[in-house]
Amino acid sequence: MPAALLSVRGLTTVFDVPPRPIVAVDGVSFDLRRGETLGLVGESGSGKSVTALSIMRLLDPPGHITGGHVVFNDQDLLDLPEAEMRKVRGAGIGLVFQEPMAALNPVMRVGHQIAESLLVHGRASRRDARKRAIELLEAVRIPDPAARVDDYPHQFSGGMRQRVMIAVALACRPPLVIADEPTTALDVTVQAQILDLLRAMKQQFDLSLLLITHDLGVIAETADRVAVMYAGRIVEEGPVRAIFHNPQHPYTRGLLASIPGGTAGARLQAIPGMVPNLAALPPGCAFAPRCPERLTICDAAPPGQTAITDEQRVRCYLHQAAAGNDGSTNAELRARTGELR
Ligand code: SF4
Repeated sequence: MPAALLSVRGLTTVFDVPPRPIVAVDGVSFDLRRGETLGLVGESGSGKSVTALSIMRLLDPPGHITGGHVVFNDQDLLDLPEAEMRKVRGAGIGLVFQEPMAALNPVMRVGHQIAESLLVHGRASRRDARKRAIELLEAVRIPDPAARVDDYPHQFSGGMRQRVMIAVALACRPPLVIADEPTTALDVTVQAQILDLLRAMKQQFDLSLLLITHDLGVIAETADRVAVMYAGRIVEEGPVRAIFHNPQHPYTRGLLASIPGGTAGARLQAIPGMVPNLAALPPGCAFAPRCPERLTICDAAPPGQTAITDEQRVRCYLHQAAAGNDGSTNAELRARTGELR
């Protein structure tokens, strides 16, 4: 099995807001192996983007990291001085955002923005930077790159701007790219082109990719493994094939039932209820108020993690009990797990 390029352990991020702090990322752990695409999926407000910003140490107050480790290339990013962290951003980890217009400088020519990244990280001389910028625009399939290198972001369409953003992220050839909802703001046909481009870039630039999305369809087309987030926690993770064919968490099953083609032959179904308010989470499983398989014990405390296979893990009392590590004498649970066995 390839070694982990990025290891996140127990990452916890809190927003200090009145009347009490909100835990937006709650003890999140995962590995991203070299050369793989890991999808981080969940509804809006599940903590996916805050996880990405925490990894990059780009959180604005009142958000701050209160615990955990983010080990990238054998160094804990949470221990690095800010000057070292600036080198990691761009040269070690590239970032692609949902809204390229917000990430690109509107008054700077796109070629300058790519060149600036190369110059800041000492990856090209001033003379070579323009040539490299044109090569990168060509790599991300911008037609006539030598002519477009002097254009401003507003002179590009949404899809082309996202290509420019990807060129900026790849400029210093980082081994890891974090793409946060890279296709969400785009038309459906353009979405497919950008996903295709990301797959091609992964091969060409030998990348590992952390792909953050609310869309399981995007995961199905692009990722090798997937981690499902709910209310700041990873509730299920495993290979894409296992998660799609054998989902174990009721929330994962709900997400699959709500996408076209997610569950073969089944009618589309929305997950009932609302994404929980992180400021007022229930004391037990955060999904309990929406869960069709809820047990009495689910309201007592958050479930721990259970290994389904070497590769697939889930946080749910149904499986905790089936694995014999629930520590409960709850009769309902025992009856239910009898069914599960
Ligand atoms: S722990 Fe209970 S409430 Fe939570 S997902 Fe599992 S069955 Fe549903």
